[in-house]
Amino acid sequence: MKNTFSLTKSTYKIHMQCQAINQYSIGQQVSESYVENNRKKEGIAIEEESKKYFNELIDSNHLHIEIQNYRNTILYQPEATIEFKGSDIRDIRITNRADYLFIDKDGNYHLIEVKGKTDPYKKNGKLKDDIKHDLTYQKYVFEKYNIPIKTVSLLYLNNDYTKKEKTIISELFIKDDVTHLLEYQSSEIEEEISRIISIIQKTSKPIKTISKGNCRDCPYKQTCHSEEGLTDEIFEIPDIRGKDINILTNNNITNLKDVGKYIKLNPNKESYIQVTRTNKPIINIDAIRNELKDFKKGDPIYSLDYETLQPPIPEWEGFRPYQQIPMQYHISKLEQNNITHKYYLHNKNSNPLPRLLENLKSDIGNEGLILVYFKRFEQQRNNEMGLMYPEYASFLESVNNRMFDLEEIFKISKGYYIHPDFKGRSTLKLVLPVFSTEQTYTDIEISGGMTARYKWHEMTADNINDTEKKKIYKDLLEYCRLDTEGLLIIYKSLMELI
Ligand code: SF4
Repeated sequence: MKNTFSLTKSTYKIHMQCQAINQYSIGQQVSESYVENNRKKEGIAIEEESKKYFNELIDSNHLHIEIQNYRNTILYQPEATIEFKGSDIRDIRITNRADYLFIDKDGNYHLIEVKGKTDPYKKNGKLKDDIKHDLTYQKYVFEKYNIPIKTVSLLYLNNDYTKKEKTIISELFIKDDVTHLLEYQSSEIEEEISRIISIIQKTSKPIKTISKGNCRDCPYKQTCHSEEGLTDEIFEIPDIRGKDINILTNNNITNLKDVGKYIKLNPNKESYIQVTRTNKPIINIDAIRNELKDFKKGDPIYSLDYETLQPPIPEWEGFRPYQQIPMQYHISKLEQNNITHKYYLHNKNSNPLPRLLENLKSDIGNEGLILVYFKRFEQQRNNEMGLMYPEYASFLESVNNRMFDLEEIFKISKGYYIHPDFKGRSTLKLVLPVFSTEQTYTDIEISGGMTARYKWHEMTADNINDTEKKKIYKDLLEYCRLDTEGLLIIYKSLMELI
């Protein structure tokens, strides 16, 4: 019996990102992570909100297209499917479900796609590639279905919108006609679709787009890279470009010692190769001493970390879409070799900033250096909070001035402290275990900022019982504490070293 292969918009977009992914994914179920699942829910919420934009024009009952009788109507989620007989092995079904299709009074069709982004354009004003592929695929399928699309528009979130007492939908969303930016060529799409089908039917080999951006989160990375003879050591070389990776894999280079014969090395790559090959860290004690010159042994030292929310649709007055809103901080203080803790974790579904700022002001004092990791993040949050709450502006500015960014010491570009376990990067999750095996994220359910964000929403929702609520509260406290205590542990080790 023949199988049917269904080509959807997402299969097409994945193919345009890297032709090999579909080859690996066919017939495989990859379980969705907690974060992906929550992102999807956010997307659904944005789509729901977008219905209000069209208000009474919308007809939600038409999932399938029966459009002849419609004029001046917007169909919600209309579907189009093209079917044809494929090879001996498979028939092919090409499907699309649009967000909205507007039929004007003259019977012309206008496609409208909702994007939960605030920036669908590249710096040069063109559409971002994934959005362009999304829209051209949709136009192609509808046109093959005898629905000529006159215009294509995007409905996306307005980054400059600030929520008032009530949400003003016409200001929250921006609608742009992007027909002129599509560079639509039906023959090109047809060619890509044929390529997908031949890859699925194994009559042609996919071209792999190996790059850090593409491969880092790809669920098939291990199989795919080992087929190419690409080791993690090579893939993790700092600043390595896809072109360089191709040169190395084409020449069967799997050992770091040979890399320099084939690609140009800069100081970052050289340091990485040296520490990885020798399995010994590079430590420049003079440079670290100089970086830490403002710290005096015995002086009290603070460390600070924020966890933030980032709701696509602002929930409280005064906030923008996707604004990062601190809902929790943790402060660890080192004094006479003793570490103490202060924290605030907002536990209601309301604007966390008034209470958070009030507590921060009394917990962090007026003097003493404050260790942070990647200070731009904390400083930007403070600047934004200072603008929203001017009564705290000078306090927040003084907190910014007291900050010392511990990441600077571990940046590969600086070359002060580079360890083989850092894998060419300087994130706290990689750096901390080198200094402390006791500080571990494995015992709590929260191991990243994105998870913390969604767990907070879970904790403050109405449908959660007290036991679950307490568990999340405890995990959030522990997660934030690990980071700030970790900073003090690293600091102490560095002070001993110099
Ligand atoms: S690991 Fe990279 S090259 Fe391989 S299939 Fe995934 S994205 Fe493509």
